[in-house]
Amino acid sequence: MSMRYVSTRGGVEPVGFSDAVMMGLARDGGLLLPETIPDVAGRLGAWSTLSYQELAVEVMRLFVDIPDEDLEPLVRTSYATFRAPEITPVVGVGDIHILELFHGPTLAFKDVALQFLGNLFEYILEGRDQDLNILAATSGDTGSAAIYGVRGRERIRIFVMHPKGRVSPLQERQMTSVTDANVHNLALEGTFDDCQSIMKNLFGDLNFKDRYALGSVNSINWARVLAQVVYYFYGAFRVMDATGADRVRFAVPTGNFGDIFAGYVAARMGLPIGQLVLATNENNILARCFCEGDYSLGEVHATLSPSMDIQVASNFERYLYYRLGESGPTVRTLMSAFAATGSVRLPVSEGAAVDDLIVAGMGDTEATLATIRDLHEKHGYLLDPHSAVGVSVGRRFLNDDEPMICLATAHPAKFPAAIKQATGEDIARHEVLDALADLPTQSEVLPAESDAVRDFVATRIDNSGE
Ligand SMILES: *Cc1c(COP(=O)(O)O)cnc(C)c1O
Repeated sequence: MSMRYVSTRGGVEPVGFSDAVMMGLARDGGLLLPETIPDVAGRLGAWSTLSYQELAVEVMRLFVDIPDEDLEPLVRTSYATFRAPEITPVVGVGDIHILELFHGPTLAFKDVALQFLGNLFEYILEGRDQDLNILAATSGDTGSAAIYGVRGRERIRIFVMHPKGRVSPLQERQMTSVTDANVHNLALEGTFDDCQSIMKNLFGDLNFKDRYALGSVNSINWARVLAQVVYYFYGAFRVMDATGADRVRFAVPTGNFGDIFAGYVAARMGLPIGQLVLATNENNILARCFCEGDYSLGEVHATLSPSMDIQVASNFERYLYYRLGESGPTVRTLMSAFAATGSVRLPVSEGAAVDDLIVAGMGDTEATLATIRDLHEKHGYLLDPHSAVGVSVGRRFLNDDEPMICLATAHPAKFPAAIKQATGEDIARHEVLDALADLPTQSEVLPAESDAVRDFVATRIDNSGE
């Protein structure tokens, strides 16, 4: 019998994997999680020599309702678009190991999950003879990774809203140079918050949502977490093999808590992780939570690592579910207290750590720039600003017996201004980004109003001639 999925708030009947993927958010407002987390401690030896793709199949087959003979080609196709044969290679740099997650088509780690999710959606839709219309709002990285995940697919259309003139020119070009017929870039005359509130309005319009089969690709989708679990195993095996250590630590630059939650799942499955180091920029609600037990909202600050400029981390509720003894009612009570007051405290016993596994810290702008400069000067290695936040905090938790693996979440060429600020040189380039300069771009400018977006989406779908 294949894995069933339950809601963190305990209010929905368990569903299978494919239903969980199509549902996104659970109907009771919670997030979906597997009913149990399989213990794989006895298989680590056999898994440690597998290729990335073989390992992905072994990990995923424990969680999905897809036969192995279909899962294997899904995984192969998803990672055929990566530019590194190892998919997520590990590089030793001074006293740390860097797990490079940015070799996908848009040069950010979100490709690891979204390349897989695009193929998975198509597979499920084929089986059900259905179509899907994805609506997304982006401030930068997510939009292009989602577009590259679904471009050219028959049963899927994607509408991505970005605030016109308020995403970096490079990020805008990455999105708008994709001119496949199923991709619609909407440049809204407003802010990112406007884009998000329009998205909430349209998803809240249930008639519209059902009639036009609206779906979402945001980071609360369980399939995204699942795809990310794989590289924790892969990275740990490479470093344990190279160093002879039998335990490792991971440092993870964190925004929505999706990436680090995948590491938490890997640890619960039995991967020997001694510590998960949660790293934030100045938007440090999560660092405060894991240091002091205090989960309380602050103002959003704009930093050099914009994909982590987040206060309310959408995946944090999944962690809370385990932290609160897998009790849906307790999660529901805590989340409604948080919604009402913007602040809650985690139950922590006297003198104990907030969590036995997760430690945390903040890497501010100064630390980010100093870390980029230091690795460049001493080792000739360039970090992007998000990865630099992770390395700067990870280095505070070095230990002789447990090597530190720092996740590199974007290629530095995506953030050339920060690299120039840190090193004084304009040296962050990538041929994929250079090549975009000559491509034609396409986007539709719309007022930042729900009605305008609703009309545009409906008209495009109605006129596409089934
Ligand atoms: C999205 C993103 C992050 C944050 O990942 P979460 O899963 O939201 O914690 C970090 N770095 C980069 C480059 C990103 O695009």
